[in-house]
Amino acid sequence: MLQKAFISIGSNKGGRIDNCRTAVWLVGSGRKTFVVKKSSFYETEPWGNPDQPPFINAVIEVRTELGPRELLGLLKSIERKMGRTPSVPLGPRVIDLDIIFYGQAVINERGLKVPHPQAGERAFVLLPLNEIAPEFVHPSLKKKVFELAASLKDTGGIKRLV
Ligand code: AMP
Repeated sequence: MLQKAFISIGSNKGGRIDNCRTAVWLVGSGRKTFVVKKSSFYETEPWGNPDQPPFINAVIEVRTELGPRELLGLLKSIERKMGRTPSVPLGPRVIDLDIIFYGQAVINERGLKVPHPQAGERAFVLLPLNEIAPEFVHPSLKKKVFELAASLKDTGGIKRLV
């Protein structure tokens, strides 16, 4: 069965927009996952460790036959393929791919937390998500994406690119 999932994409190293575009293409290039929507790109002040270049962020909606672990495996293999090497936590990265939602699943396992812990509170996830899925209900907070986006306190460090 095809599941609806949302994936966040980020890059702050090298050709950041090209890196994000390549990642979107790679996510949809297998036979089991299809990209159905893509947000605009946003430029975002780095979170956690300000001493690094700004990120480009986007969110995509996919339909996938892969289970959550398999989808995570696909994202990790794309990160490796694109040359992401283990680096400092919260440091610069060529590409970062996270599962934000996997249908209404709530998964709290070692190495896989869905909804992604940042999904309900970070502007760089919620603003792009709100563009493509404002009515989607956060499976554990039980609020719609547009409500979560409206309650963000600080969206100053994020700029939508046209
Ligand atoms: P990151 O540094 O953002 O790439 O995340 C590192 C680790 O977070 C990965 O190796 C995953 O095992 C783990 N992780 C937990 N939940 C998720 C999720 N929802 N999406 C992607 N990675 C996740």
